[in-house]
Amino acid sequence: MSEILDIARLGHSVLRQPAEAVQNINNPRIQTLIDNLIVTAAEARGVGIAAPQVACTSRLFVIASRPSERYPHAPSMQPTAMLNPRILARSEAMEKDWEGCLSVPGVRGLVPRSREIEVEYCDRHGNLQKDILTGFIARIFQHELDHLDGILFIDRLESSEDRFTETEYQKIIIDC
Ligand code: ZN
Repeated sequence: MSEILDIARLGHSVLRQPAEAVQNINNPRIQTLIDNLIVTAAEARGVGIAAPQVACTSRLFVIASRPSERYPHAPSMQPTAMLNPRILARSEAMEKDWEGCLSVPGVRGLVPRSREIEVEYCDRHGNLQKDILTGFIARIFQHELDHLDGILFIDRLESSEDRFTETEYQKIIIDC
């Protein structure tokens, strides 16, 4: 049975530690961690979650975009585990859009990210995958990859005016 894990919150030192490459993807501990991340993200209505957020310093995250009250306009996809992920290339075009983080509850921000990225990662079966991601999924990938390097979305804000409470964010997106 998968287990819902406790999420580390802003101020917990694990969120600032660089994560280490996953050596053995078939390790049952890693496979269980992936299953637990998937149920933990679903329960918290997150569209992604990285291992450091549950106090595991392994380079892996899960992207699980789906519409919810936290992200009403999110595209739907199957939860996908990405291990040892890397960005191979990024578009020059940047885009500012909304982000939040399960580790930073109650805060939203307009974060600049590359609009399109070429990425590489191992899937949970150990197969190397290459993909081109755009828009919201590219944004999630960049947000989660930052977690593996100890960076939070609030570090990326260009201005204090780009920082909102969850309540103000909800008022704004309801009109979109
Ligand atoms: Zn996050």
